[in-house]
Amino acid sequence: RELYGIDHWGSRYFGVSPEGDVTVRLRKGDSWSDVSIHSLAQGAQERGLCMPVLFRFRDILDSRIILLNESFAKAIREYGYKGEYRGVFPVKVNQQQEVISEIVRAGRKYHHGLEAGSKAELIAALGYMHDPESYIVCNGYKDEEFIDLALYGNKLGLKVIIVVERPGELELVLSRAEKARVKPSLGLRIKLTAKSEGHWTESGGDKSIFGLTALQITESVDLLRERNMLDCLELLHYHQGSQLPNIRNIRIALTEACRYYAELKREGARMGILDIGGGLAVDYDGSKTNFASSKNYSMEEFCYDVVEIVMSTLDAEGVEHPVIVSESGRSLVAYSSVLVFNVLDINKAAHDEIPEELPESCHSYLKNLRETARSITAKNAQEAFNDAIYYRDELHSLFIHGTISLREKSLADRIFWHVINKIVRTTRQMDYIPEDLTGIDRVIHDTYYGNFSIFQSLPDSWAIDQLFPIMPIHRLREEPRRPAVLADITCDSDGKIDRFIDLQGVKNSLLLHDLKSDEEYFLGIFLVGAYQETLGDLHNLFGDTNIVSISLDDEGTVVYEHETKGDSVADVLSYVEYDPNELIRGFRSLAERAVRCRLLAPKERREIVEAYEAGLRGYTYYEW
Ligand code: PLP
Repeated sequence: RELYGIDHWGSRYFGVSPEGDVTVRLRKGDSWSDVSIHSLAQGAQERGLCMPVLFRFRDILDSRIILLNESFAKAIREYGYKGEYRGVFPVKVNQQQEVISEIVRAGRKYHHGLEAGSKAELIAALGYMHDPESYIVCNGYKDEEFIDLALYGNKLGLKVIIVVERPGELELVLSRAEKARVKPSLGLRIKLTAKSEGHWTESGGDKSIFGLTALQITESVDLLRERNMLDCLELLHYHQGSQLPNIRNIRIALTEACRYYAELKREGARMGILDIGGGLAVDYDGSKTNFASSKNYSMEEFCYDVVEIVMSTLDAEGVEHPVIVSESGRSLVAYSSVLVFNVLDINKAAHDEIPEELPESCHSYLKNLRETARSITAKNAQEAFNDAIYYRDELHSLFIHGTISLREKSLADRIFWHVINKIVRTTRQMDYIPEDLTGIDRVIHDTYYGNFSIFQSLPDSWAIDQLFPIMPIHRLREEPRRPAVLADITCDSDGKIDRFIDLQGVKNSLLLHDLKSDEEYFLGIFLVGAYQETLGDLHNLFGDTNIVSISLDDEGTVVYEHETKGDSVADVLSYVEYDPNELIRGFRSLAERAVRCRLLAPKERREIVEAYEAGLRGYTYYEW
């Protein structure tokens, strides 16, 4: 468990059982119970859900909502803050109906609302969020229809707040509100000067494409004053970017935002709500640092810092404490989904075994290389490495010049990689590693072919090199010995993962187990509940994976719910405008022509056409 860092990133939701399986902590009545994810995967297969399967854990989602709201409540109580906290979940972070309805259900107690960044997201939000005390915050580019829907939400008694993000938008909102005869609830999104660190910093700061400058804010205030509508301006919003690893930057930006808030109040706007956007990070690598895949603060510390800064800054300005809104998405949903897939095959870089003796007739360099393999120790590892490189290069030249055969060349390659592998193992036990050998483990690794598509299930790994915890979900009592990189089953050279989490930074390979002939080998990719599902694409026409939600009943029996079959081949083809019936017609006529030309017997035609039709109905991933 130390090797994969699960105790660091698992946040106590994930652990390892005495049998060596990764477990997930689920609610059983009033207590918690650890359930083997390996047994869940087997149960899914028995129910006919082939790998890859995305497992959703509702209990984890609920626990994150409770943790965020209770942490803010505690900070508010302890500091004696006069306002409240009202979270809004940004629908874009995971738009799946099951996730949104669960957030609305579990968040009701806290009036946890939703944030909609588009018309479609607002329509989804209005369908589920019916609590008049929760907020629906509307961000993004808005057309008349979007604005009208938000205003109708107000008419229906909901608190829908339209955030003005670009110059010119305010005029449009005011004219639609006049037409609908509704007093709108308005917010302004500001462009902060404070810069952050991390993958997504461009979405905040001066360079952000959204938000108003100080000049545009004063123009907006003037317009509202002119129309006698300053009492509609209730909210100030900013968004620094997602996954903010450093609490210092969060504090700096918030202080700046509080100044804007106080000034707007001074200008006569009604105000009352400060919306600090998203950014609350997830510790994907468990290092608790300000690496891009981590964060140097806990959720509780975040809440305390936010409350403390808003309170101290606004107290100094003599401004009443506002309701604090955060649009935290990633931190609420990341933990609640795990992708499990099976390994199909391994391309081994080095063989454990090499021949004991070589034929008398083979080249002396080959024998010398064999001898090098035999004599590696910690003391001579450097020398063995130099010798191996020398003989490998010489043997390659001999092959090019026709002196040794293909069989001797293949033997040379096999022994060379065996030597390197032995040196790598030897260096793991050495206190001091000579310079030439540092990083040697990076050159040798196996390729494990996983039954999944990075482009569909882990787009941020491909697009922005984001790191996710990945590990075997069973066999953890056996020592994994093979350094590996992962390849998916798309035929794209980018369809690989060769950067893995490490407490000290990033490592280039992951130690995995050898495959067994009588048992499937399963890996899990953890913390994939935020952004990955909806950003995924159909590269190579691999579609949505099978999905199932897991919970326990009061007796502790596993309940498989909301089973969603992944896309079939016909589904993905129709997404790209093929008509499956037309495809079948075309294939049938091709087969008929083959019968006419006597290439095929009519019975074979039937079998082949049936196989084509079954292929269309089948899963897009590798099926056994
Ligand atoms: N709010 C806005 C305006 C965003 O653009 C985003 C995402 O970047 C979020 C909230 C969610 O941020 P996070 O997932 O980091 O909480």
